[in-house]
Order: sequence, then structure tokens, then C-alpha cells
Amino acid sequence: MFTEFLIQECAYDNMSNRKKIIAGNWKMNLSLPEAKNLIQEIIANPKNKNQVTKIFFPPFLTIPIVSGLVNNSDYFMGAQNCHEQVSGAYTGEVSAKMVSESGCTYVLIGHSERRQFFNENNGQLTQKIKSALENNLHVVFCVGESLLDRKSEKHFDSVGIQLHEVLQNFDATDLNKIVLAYEPVWAIGTGETASPLQAQEMHAFIRRTIKEMFGIEAALQISILYGGSCNATNARELFACPDVDGGLIGGASLKAYDFSQIIQSFS
Ligand code: PEP
Repeated sequence: MFTEFLIQECAYDNMSNRKKIIAGNWKMNLSLPEAKNLIQEIIANPKNKNQVTKIFFPPFLTIPIVSGLVNNSDYFMGAQNCHEQVSGAYTGEVSAKMVSESGCTYVLIGHSERRQFFNENNGQLTQKIKSALENNLHVVFCVGESLLDRKSEKHFDSVGIQLHEVLQNFDATDLNKIVLAYEPVWAIGTGETASPLQAQEMHAFIRRTIKEMFGIEAALQISILYGGSCNATNARELFACPDVDGGLIGGASLKAYDFSQIIQSFS
């Protein structure tokens, strides 16, 4: 049903210039020496010098230490979160401005672990994205359904609501700096990956939603990443799906060999 969009629009698709992106979400992992080794090993691999945009999302404190190592246009640094306020009495928080000053050009907003463990809701996520854009950051905005929603066949409704409630507060120009990541919650860190068919139909649904909200040009230019137990073995078949423009990688981004294999998984 949702693949229809592609068939109808494929004549335009050749004209689109969508970025292929591989992003590594390190979560709360790796010591500083481990982080440095990982980045150095990935950068040293000549096969990783390709057209793919590569982004590292280390923990906050690791960012300034390792950002000097990725001082070229091939690799970008991102933060896993930012606070929506510019400054103030928010103990333990980090603002978008601080993220930007630390050498990051990207920030991850709306990861399901932030929604689940820190009760971040769509209103707050909207404010975070606003703050990020005001501070010239690119945003990787995550959406995805729970296992319950998937089992009760409410996955399109669930993802549609997350997209609408947040993105209705932005315009097509803002969208130029937003990347979407579809991360089914049941696939994150579980070893259970969405099948290529499940990924493709949801990505096509997301692109159709963007078309309805912002028009065809925005829909064709926005990169939509898949995340959820994506690894060196399954990346190639997922990235072969026409609406999958890359991956947001958790566990497999912590190993240089696996992450490099994923970077090289576009046909
Ligand atoms: C993630 O947390 O964004 C993620 C995709 O994790 P994993 O690859 O480990 O499932």
C-alpha cells in the first residue's frame, strides 16, 4: 500500500539529492581511550572515505576530546540530547548553544530512550528542535512505535502522531536541517530487526506524510534513517530499500569493524 508512493513518484526521485547517512549513537558507553581508539580506527580505514555522511554521537563529556580527531569534512560530531532552554537553573542539563560550541553540528532529538526514561513528550521535543535550529545545529529526529502498537497494528498511527505533533511547528525551510530516524522501539537493542519490507513500508509512509505536510520537494530531499539492531550483516538489505537513506546505529557503532562495514553497505 505505502510503496505506491514510490512508484508514482520515482520519476522525481532521480532528481532528488538525498544524503546517505550513517550515524553512531554511542549512548552511555566507552571510556575516553576506547572512544579515541574507535574513532581513529574508523577514520584510518580508506574504504570509509566514500560519499556517505558519517556522524558520531558520543556522550557529552567525550565530545570535546574526540572532536579534534574528526577534523575533516568526512565525519561530523553530534550530541545525544540538548535542553530546550538557552541557559538557567537546569541542573545537569546542556543547552543547544553549548552543544554547538563543543564542536557538534548535529543533535539527536526524541530517541525512544529519552522518551521512555526521561518522559520527554512531543511538546518538549518541539522546543528542543527549535532551540537546536536556532543554534545552527542539524537535527536527527527519532520516531518509532512500541511493540504493543506494532502488535495491535497501530504502528502507522503511532508514528504519524509523533511526526504531526512535532513537525507541524516547523516549515519546509527548517526541514532542510532535519533528518528523520525511524526506530521501532521493539527493535532497539533487542537483536530483532525490522524486515526490509517493514522498514520500507514505514519509510514510504513517513515520506508520504512529509509530502502531505510540506510538499513533494521536501519529501524527496529529506533523509530517513533506519535504526534498531541494524548491523554489519543486515545493513545492506535494509539500505537497498528505496526509502531507507542510511542508519542510526547503536550497539554496532561501538565496534570499528562493524561500523565500517555498515558505512560500506550502500550498493
Ligand atoms: C539506537 O539506540 O538508536 C539503536 C538503533 O540501537 P541498536 O542499534 O543497538 O538497536
